Amino acid sequence: MDENTLARPVPEDAPAAAAAWVERIRRKVAESGRTVRLMEFCGTHTMAIARSGLRSLLRGAVELVSGPGCPVCVTADGEIDRMLAYCDVPGSIVATYGDLLRVPGSHSSLARRRAEGTDVRVVYSALDALQLARENPDRPVVFLGVGFETTAPAAALAVKTAREEGLGNFYVHSAHKQTPPAMRALLEAGDLKLDGIICPGHVSTVLGAEAFAFLPAEYGVPGAVAGFEPLDILLAVDHLVDAALGRRSPDLWNGYPRWVRPGGNRRAQALLNEVFRPCDARWRGLGWLPGSGLCLRDEFAPFDAETRFPAAVPEPPARKGCRCGEVLRGLLTPAECPLFGRACRPEQPVGPCMVSSEGACAAWYRYGPGEEVRA
Ligand code: SF4
Repeated sequence: MDENTLARPVPEDAPAAAAAWVERIRRKVAESGRTVRLMEFCGTHTMAIARSGLRSLLRGAVELVSGPGCPVCVTADGEIDRMLAYCDVPGSIVATYGDLLRVPGSHSSLARRRAEGTDVRVVYSALDALQLARENPDRPVVFLGVGFETTAPAAALAVKTAREEGLGNFYVHSAHKQTPPAMRALLEAGDLKLDGIICPGHVSTVLGAEAFAFLPAEYGVPGAVAGFEPLDILLAVDHLVDAALGRRSPDLWNGYPRWVRPGGNRRAQALLNEVFRPCDARWRGLGWLPGSGLCLRDEFAPFDAETRFPAAVPEPPARKGCRCGEVLRGLLTPAECPLFGRACRPEQPVGPCMVSSEGACAAWYRYGPGEEVRA
């Protein structure tokens, strides 16, 4: 497998190639006499790994631990409560991604508020919410922005366009988050020994793989940027296993060159920097992380929903029973939560990790059995 292979989306012989790579990885780990623990940071990787059964295929050799890369999952209860407060703004249209609707806050959810009569719309992009504002000039439209460096550029573009068009009824609540500070927090917490991190492919298309060079440089932890096909993930695992076993120096490897270019997407980066500034953000499971959020810059304050519609939101009580915070830190597998598959199921979720299409609990529930036991 070489750079040319990585440049193609899916080789025709992918299943056979994947089986061979699984065997190769298992063999070299077995020869080492130890096991390797890797984290897939990104929720899309978590779902891809579950769907393809890679966790099971590598069990006993490589433990794949899910991380906090599901943006809906890491949105804290207090932030959800704050978002729910926009439902009380007279005449408002609240627009957001479908995943967020069923995430429970401390007292309700957007889905419930919609059933009770609030105009909550599902959109695929901040630009769809902007269109809603154009079509409803007499009503305030609040876009609830969650996501990492991948979705934030579209929110930035929507805000910039709203200003250019002189729209006075479009607002953004930015719960966007940045991935590198969360990786640092995980490593500095030190409660989970990792041999390597599978770095998010989508985020890397925006930031460039270089954004994760601090992993080997500052923490001695190898990183591999991966795409989302099983072969992409296996190649990243293989690279990280080699580093973990001392067959190569810890480095940052770009295993997704068909989309991740040196320097990343500079237009998207410029847009992010123009509209947003880093600010402190609260992550479920990780707490407040300095500089990990993206807030609107002062010149875009007229579009800031929190400024336009201030609300006193009490600190929510601790969620009983849900272990989502530990799942997001890789300290617990979903199946180790006592509520998994019992009180908490996709049709009746207790926590966000069971709601989101990128949530670890949802992935384990959907693609188990065989995914429920640690390596
Ligand atoms: Fe929370 Fe449900 Fe996951 Fe348990 S199974 S950690 S209750 S989301």
